[in-house]
Amino acid sequence: MGQIIIVLVYGVIMGFATQAIIENKGYKDNWFWWGFFFGIIALIVAAARPQCAATIEMNEVLAEEREKKNELKRKDERMLQEDGWKCICGKLNASYIGTCSCGRTRADVEEFKKKKEQEQKQAGESERLKQLQQYKALLDCGALTEEEFAAKKKQLLNL
Ligand SMILES: [Zn+2]
Repeated sequence: MGQIIIVLVYGVIMGFATQAIIENKGYKDNWFWWGFFFGIIALIVAAARPQCAATIEMNEVLAEEREKKNELKRKDERMLQEDGWKCICGKLNASYIGTCSCGRTRADVEEFKKKKEQEQKQAGESERLKQLQQYKALLDCGALTEEEFAAKKKQLLNL
C-alpha cells in the first residue's frame, strides 16, 4: 500500500516536472502523463527537446514590437515636450499643426479635455455621495458608531 502511494506521488511529481519543462520550452502540448508513466526518461526527453521554434519567433516579434512601441513613445514624449498636443483620436501632433488628420482642431481637443475633467469630477462627487449613503446605512443598522461615521464623512467630504 505504502509503495503504491510512493509510486503515485513520484509519478505526479515527474508529471508536473516534465510538463513544466515542456511549457518552459514554449510547447503547448500536455506532457504530464508522459512524465507520470515514464518518470525520469520523459524528463530527459523533454529536457532534450529544442526550444519551440514558434516561440522563439514569437518572442522576437514581441521584442520588435516592444522596441517599435518604445520608439514611438519616445517620439511622442519629445513632441509633447516641444509643445505638441495629443488628439482625441490618439494621434500626437506637433505644435505647429492646428488640425489633426482626423479633422479635430487643437481647440476642439482642449474643450473636450475640459468637459471630460468636469465629468470626472462630477462622477467622483456622486461616487462619494453613494459611499456616504452606504456609511449612513451602516450607521443606521449599528455596524458603525457615530464617531466612525463622522470620521468617514469628514474623510469623504474633505477629498
Ligand atoms: Zn485626431
